[in-house]
Amino acid sequence: MTDLSTVPVSAIKGVGTKTAEALVKAGINTCLDLLHIYPRIYEDRTPRYLLQDAPLDCKVALIMRVTTSPRIGFTPTGKRIVRFSAKQREDSPSVQIAFFNQTYLVNAFHVGSDYRFYGKLSKGGSGYFMFSPSFEPVEAMTADTVPVYSPQGGLSSGKIAKIIKTLLSSISPLDILDTLPEEVRRENMLMPLGEALFEIHCPTDGRVLDRAKERLIFDELFEFSLAAEKLRRREDTQIAPSMEKVDTTPFINALPFPLTNAQKRSLAEIENDLTGTVQPHRAMRRLLQGDVGSGKTAVAAGAIYIAMKNGGKAYLMAPTEILACQHFETLKAWFEPMGFRVMLLTGSTSAKERRNIREYLQLHDPLLIVGTHALFEEETRPYNLTLVITDEQHRFGVNQREKLLSKATVRNNLVMSATPIPRTLAMFLYAGLDVSILDELPPGRQEISTLLIPPSKRERMYGFIESEIANGHQAYIICPLVEESEEEALEREVSGKGSLMSAVEMAESLKKRFERYNVGLLHGKMKPADKNAVMEGFAKGEIQILVSTTVVEVGVNVPNATVMAIEDSDRFGLAQLHQLRGRIGRGKDKSWCIFITSTKSRDALSRLEFMTKCTDGFKIAEYDLEQRGPGDFFGERQHGELQLPLASTTRDVTLFKKAADSAKAYLDSKK
Ligand code: ADP
Ligand code: MG
Repeated sequence: MTDLSTVPVSAIKGVGTKTAEALVKAGINTCLDLLHIYPRIYEDRTPRYLLQDAPLDCKVALIMRVTTSPRIGFTPTGKRIVRFSAKQREDSPSVQIAFFNQTYLVNAFHVGSDYRFYGKLSKGGSGYFMFSPSFEPVEAMTADTVPVYSPQGGLSSGKIAKIIKTLLSSISPLDILDTLPEEVRRENMLMPLGEALFEIHCPTDGRVLDRAKERLIFDELFEFSLAAEKLRRREDTQIAPSMEKVDTTPFINALPFPLTNAQKRSLAEIENDLTGTVQPHRAMRRLLQGDVGSGKTAVAAGAIYIAMKNGGKAYLMAPTEILACQHFETLKAWFEPMGFRVMLLTGSTSAKERRNIREYLQLHDPLLIVGTHALFEEETRPYNLTLVITDEQHRFGVNQREKLLSKATVRNNLVMSATPIPRTLAMFLYAGLDVSILDELPPGRQEISTLLIPPSKRERMYGFIESEIANGHQAYIICPLVEESEEEALEREVSGKGSLMSAVEMAESLKKRFERYNVGLLHGKMKPADKNAVMEGFAKGEIQILVSTTVVEVGVNVPNATVMAIEDSDRFGLAQLHQLRGRIGRGKDKSWCIFITSTKSRDALSRLEFMTKCTDGFKIAEYDLEQRGPGDFFGERQHGELQLPLASTTRDVTLFKKAADSAKAYLDSKK
């Protein structure tokens, strides 16, 4: 048995210095690291369909004979494409095949020969077509189930697949050392690691593959649970002095609104954390979760009030300067009349003001500092910092949270998140934190009706928008793109199919359609000053229709807007649609959200239909997670904290529980 964790990737046959360097750059140093790069998906290349029965706009495998010789053509913008026709049978319709920018392929196909093509099959005005499919001559066809990897360190998915194959062909499952303690593996009836890794890369059978996944998922969950449990055991021993109980009535009375029940409940939970009498008393470690607009700020302010009444200092950290300023304004208006000092520290705070802040940090008076990550960088150790609050936590890493906490005298920590994270997932992301949930919006918010329509009803929708505007309201039109891409323009040309609606085009056409009104355009490629001017025009009501890309997703508050139409809505993630829809329904009038789509994909349609029935961010997140897994839900930007490549925390709750129990038992057995 070789310990593959000590064999460098350069030992694999065919891996030269350059490839090895690329792998190392991607964090893949050893053969074992490489085997832990799991396929992103498995493509089913079984040629199971007759062309006429094949699902459209999905990837399918078709065995077809090339019927015209490949020719080089040009796209509308002058790029080269190779195109030709192929047929499944003599009497079946032709499929047009096209490749972009790969003119060498002109010699890769022979009229009269059969190939297996695998790609997205679509149908337009001029018949069936497939762009840039994978292909193999029928004589040289490989397995029907093909693992597809994510590119790593600049190496393509295909290259990664080839290296892994070569490695596996030179070893046996028995060569792979099992990393799980044997008793844990046996108790949970799991497959040995070697077998699981072989199966995941070269699947033999659906059921065996499921068992292999289970084993590998268990490993992730076990490792995670072990780390979380160790942390919990360490933290539990951190005894913190509890604060004096405080009468919060004056604070609650000073707020411009009565608290919702959910806010009261969360605040009571926080009070209990801070002032509880259970001995030994631990520092607060709590996650406050609530959809956008659920009123997290007021709850945080309650915690700050208790800390400051106890003579302590509090930090509130936001991920962006805009959010920090917003919090600062709000909290200053609440706390200054009660005699507390509130200060703002961001990247653009002047040197003079920073000196001023440093002085106050060392005084013994209560103080609230609202800031951005500039707060970490401040070296001065505050006197009696007893509460650290981080807003929109998922944008900060665990390490940053730790760093900020290390400055505190008492490590009370409140984390706020607006991303509606299902409870099960929260257990992973915020291991060791207690959870409070704001599951109720403040009263007076309007229900939003959501409709799903095909493009053919667009004109009727415009009629509706016109009547809303005539009643003094405003509308958003959201488009997925700034401008049409080349590939999309080509797809339209070849297929005779409608293109994606770009914001620029849309604004042009709406200016004609709504001549009497002002149509504004907003997208991410505009200069900040121009963006602001358009946003202000919309906020003041000078612009009635705002055509925009997703840049309006956050931080826009125009209560007078009552309609949002989202073009090509199947192009957006559900979390994103939810955020977008959150821009309307903010005023006293009823609002409508209209999803426009021409997709035929059943999956995409049922996702959108779900959105028309549900406005609850948590339920949407649960649903989305079940369908796509956490990686997709969080997107790349927010992926940092959740490094569980296989596990889906909603699907795998039972397994997670087993792993967590095993981790505890294992740690106990080591005592
Ligand atoms: P979150 O941070 O959870 O997205 P905010 O704390 O910014 O939400 O609150 C959203 C809006 O709702 C703010 O304008 C706030 O003043 C208001 N608000 C908060 N709680 C209540 C309440 N109990 N009743 C009425 N309005 C409230
Ligand atoms: Mg907020």
